[in-house]
Amino acid sequence: MHLAIPFDNSYARLPEQFYTRQVATRVCAPRLIRFNDGLAAELGIAGGDEAALAAAFSGNETPKGAEPLAQVYAGHQFGGFSPQLGDGRALLLGELVDNTGQRRDIQLKGSGPTPYSRMGDGRAWLGPVLREYVVSEAMHALGIPSTRALAAVSTGEQVWREAGALPGAVLTRVASSHIRVGTFQYFAARRDLASLRTLYDYTVARHYPHVEDPAHLLSEVIGRQARLVASWLSVGFIHGVMNTDNTAISGETIDYGPCAFMDTYHPQTVYSSIDAHGRYAYDNQANVIVWNMAQFATALVPLMPDAGAAVEEFTALVHAMPDRIEAEWRRAFCAKIGLAKAGPEGAALVGDLLARMADGQADFTNTFRALVSGGARDQFLDPMAFDTWEEGWRTRIAREADPESLMRAANPALIPRNHQVEEMIQSALAGDFAPFERLLHVLSRPFEDQPEAADLTRPPRPSEVVRQTFCGT
Ligand code: AMP
Ligand code: MG
Repeated sequence: MHLAIPFDNSYARLPEQFYTRQVATRVCAPRLIRFNDGLAAELGIAGGDEAALAAAFSGNETPKGAEPLAQVYAGHQFGGFSPQLGDGRALLLGELVDNTGQRRDIQLKGSGPTPYSRMGDGRAWLGPVLREYVVSEAMHALGIPSTRALAAVSTGEQVWREAGALPGAVLTRVASSHIRVGTFQYFAARRDLASLRTLYDYTVARHYPHVEDPAHLLSEVIGRQARLVASWLSVGFIHGVMNTDNTAISGETIDYGPCAFMDTYHPQTVYSSIDAHGRYAYDNQANVIVWNMAQFATALVPLMPDAGAAVEEFTALVHAMPDRIEAEWRRAFCAKIGLAKAGPEGAALVGDLLARMADGQADFTNTFRALVSGGARDQFLDPMAFDTWEEGWRTRIAREADPESLMRAANPALIPRNHQVEEMIQSALAGDFAPFERLLHVLSRPFEDQPEAADLTRPPRPSEVVRQTFCGT
């Protein structure tokens, strides 16, 4: 049966200032690595044998109804403003309305150069494609808003990176949209008020139909981002490149680059090779997202009739964001220790545990999981440090109705550990995709104890520790 994707492309109907129409550059020998059948069913995508899927999701054939384009945006990268970025190695094929009525973007990543490629080749290599596939699907299974992975295709071509020649690949990702803080910044910086208004109207209609004015939109996006970052913190996730062009207005996790999950808990953990000063360290993410929302607010000011009043109103909203993050953080972490209500007493217990975990070099994921499955003290260099905390905690949860269920649902047994992701990539480079398939399978049920996957709960041995991750471009 022919591949049928029910496209309905609203972004392509926006004015030409928003994008450049561009088709993918052909590759020599596309081969399907994986297709996400479950997600495809949700999206109403039907048919297509392996060859047809490989042709469509490598970009070699433009599926019927697609209107490929590269989106333009701007963004603060590590705090410095770039007035023009854009899809340099990605193409929006189009959109569709899924079986729940939600509009979703279908985007190729690694599909060749566009007018926004700057010095880049527009390509991706296998490693980052498999990494984004596994980590974004794991995020989704953890219940954290995220872009999804629909397909991975190898291109049969080589991509040149620092490490030398590497096999090329294309990822197809699905997002509730690719509108970024940087998309607003692009038009605001150019003082293109007409386009800024169009973008505002489009965004409200697509994501926040109940919103009445830009202040309301700002407040809604702040709410979603506060919840998102708190949920990252609750699973030990470090995004790695929280530039404003990588902050989605929808509140989804987007642009998986040098991201990583922490093994040993330490609040200042950084993995990204390009994050020399720890701007995007684990515990700085809550600060950076406030800074990013301040940039979003700045881009919205021109939409307001009175700039002075707008600045005052928006500033108040941004200043209130740390408290909103704190509230989300408390809720998430109190559940992790089995408390249904997130009061100051619970937050103090969490804070105390985290301090002891940092001192005791405890594994983040396994310590929290062990609160319900047993053996938490063994995670600490000095198990007595846990014992003294445990006493107070046991007294406190004795008053809870069902702390076990809360903890089971808040503390995953399985996360994509860096060394396992790295091993999976090395296997794939050697032609063995079984570890990739296994990680996907196991991480689709992260809150279940899976005895047959006990090896995947093991933290890295000293020789296996991944200390740096790369943008992978
Ligand atoms: P990132 O920080 O990975 O989200 O990328 C920042 C910008 O660089 C985006 O505009 C990307 O499209 C662009 N970019 C990254 N890698 C490449 C590449 N290999 N070729 C062209 N553009 C790229
Ligand atoms: Mg990006």
